[in-house]
Amino acid sequence: MQTNNTLENLIESLKCLPGVGPKSALRLAYYLLQRDRKGAHNLASSIEESLKKLGHCKLCNNFTEEDTCSICDSQERLSDTLCVVEMPTDLLMLEQTHSYKGMYFVLMGRLSPLDGIGPKEIHINKLLERIRKSDINEIILATNFTTEGNTTAQYIAELLKESKINVTRIARGLPMGGEIEYVDSGTLAQSIVERKKLI
Ligand SMILES: [Zn+2]
Repeated sequence: MQTNNTLENLIESLKCLPGVGPKSALRLAYYLLQRDRKGAHNLASSIEESLKKLGHCKLCNNFTEEDTCSICDSQERLSDTLCVVEMPTDLLMLEQTHSYKGMYFVLMGRLSPLDGIGPKEIHINKLLERIRKSDINEIILATNFTTEGNTTAQYIAELLKESKINVTRIARGLPMGGEIEYVDSGTLAQSIVERKKLI
């Protein structure tokens, strides 16, 4: 919503951040204007630059400045294994465990019909196309162990039921309701090693 008032526009814009309501937006606006104008400048220009330069990798859907990202371009990774994660932060966490050397697909979300997030929003078509175009032997479903994460894993597993691909789910060690982003890398590494066949 654009208004004629500069300050109101700033407050309104800040409300697009998750968890920021009218009061926090007001507080943030005052903070940026009063206490950290340099920080505000940096924030504004890096948001602008990111929006201009960053797009989605054609193959894995993660953010990249090129057509394809460095992981997808790498010759050293196993091209027949594809690990499906919800968010780029999950990919980073898995990379930090050094226990996985395959490829990724980043859904950029999880199925959540109540929030209007369906298969289209999590780029299921792009995932299926990615699978169709390459010789994938195993899909590791590394979505979170939340209700939505499990539903998403189940949904993808169902779609691949008729294929010859092994569909596995990262395993134990992750607590119920656990989000990958907050799990230590030892536990996460173990969950990759102990992944279970889903279908
Ligand atoms: Zn990629």
